[in-house]
Amino acid sequence: MRLRFLGAAEEVTGSLLLVEVESGSIIVDCGMFQGRRQESRLRNAKLPRAAIEADAAILTHSHIDHSGSMPTLVKSGFQGSIYTTLATANLCSYMLRDSARIQAADAAYLNRKYGRDPDWVPITPTYDEVDVLHALDRFVALSYRRPFEPLPGVTAQLLNAGHILGSAQVVLDVHEHGKTKRILISGDLGRKGLPILRDPETPPHPVDALVLESTYGDRVHGPVESMQTEIERVVRATVARGGKIIVPAFAVGRTQELLFVLHGLLRAGRISELPIYIDSPLAINVTEVFRMHPECFDEETRSFFDEHGDVFSFALHEDGRGIDGDQSPGGPRHHHRCFRHGGGGPRPSPPPKPRRRRAQHHPDRRLHGRAHARAPLGRTAPTGENLGRRAGAPRSGRSPQRFQRPRRP
Ligand SMILES: [Zn+2]
Repeated sequence: MRLRFLGAAEEVTGSLLLVEVESGSIIVDCGMFQGRRQESRLRNAKLPRAAIEADAAILTHSHIDHSGSMPTLVKSGFQGSIYTTLATANLCSYMLRDSARIQAADAAYLNRKYGRDPDWVPITPTYDEVDVLHALDRFVALSYRRPFEPLPGVTAQLLNAGHILGSAQVVLDVHEHGKTKRILISGDLGRKGLPILRDPETPPHPVDALVLESTYGDRVHGPVESMQTEIERVVRATVARGGKIIVPAFAVGRTQELLFVLHGLLRAGRISELPIYIDSPLAINVTEVFRMHPECFDEETRSFFDEHGDVFSFALHEDGRGIDGDQSPGGPRHHHRCFRHGGGGPRPSPPPKPRRRRAQHHPDRRLHGRAHARAPLGRTAPTGENLGRRAGAPRSGRSPQRFQRPRRP
């Protein structure tokens, strides 16, 4: 048995691990490298031959740096199955198509911008939506803790990793030469006590080899409670000033956590009722996938569902442009709207500048007074930093790119 790190070695994107055993080989994850545009395009277009020729693939979770090159893998000739959890398969259906659309928009933008240059070589996306469908055809969706056999002589199971919906640790029991060796591949791991998701599962032990994600290995998390406290403080203060709040947030996980926390605060009477907008088709679709998978929720969230119904059931407006026409109480006349914003990437038409995320389009348009708040949501930030720091900050002439944004998940 041999492990080869074909991606995300000494860097944090493009996860790709090859496990070679007597009967064949398995890859775990096939993520997109996310870096400078040109380097990313080159690296993502050409995958290692050993990965393409692997017999099976296992996907730990749907984040694009773990799943985003699966369509390229299949397009390049990979013939095996892609095993993952049911929730991850459902998330990938939206996220990989979104990735294809972002690539198409990016290519169209650059070709339009530089197309008159005679030396310009037109850019084509690494894959399109049809390639995504071909990849989805290879997905085999599984429940947690259901043993399966990706290769003869290899028994695998997926354990909850508590990172995002559907995320999994992978346990491989490799039987060869009359012995069994156990490998644990953590994938990205969550932490205990986060809203909505169950805590990471304790894996079986002992293991013979542990492959552990270590991106934040040198960080100490702040208390989880600070997120709720900070959100309450920012919402109350901003509503009292008659302002709006913009929260740039990831479409998967952060958006739903925020909805859950706001719902809890509202039910507890700690904040007043206020309109919430999700300006991201992807975040709205992902929220639908969350609704489909209550089996991934922790006890608290499930009992909240039982007691209050759908915790994500705020009136959702798909597009931030709808806000301008909102005449509802709390709408423009009352100026105490809470505007929640997803980072779902640009739309193909009309083509915005692709490098600017959706949240970055809004501050300059809508936050023109001291009453408003930009609230980059950092759930691990101690009180007084991150979320709180921007609260009520007057608009300066600074570029939106300089605002503190959530780090890579
Ligand atoms: Zn992740």
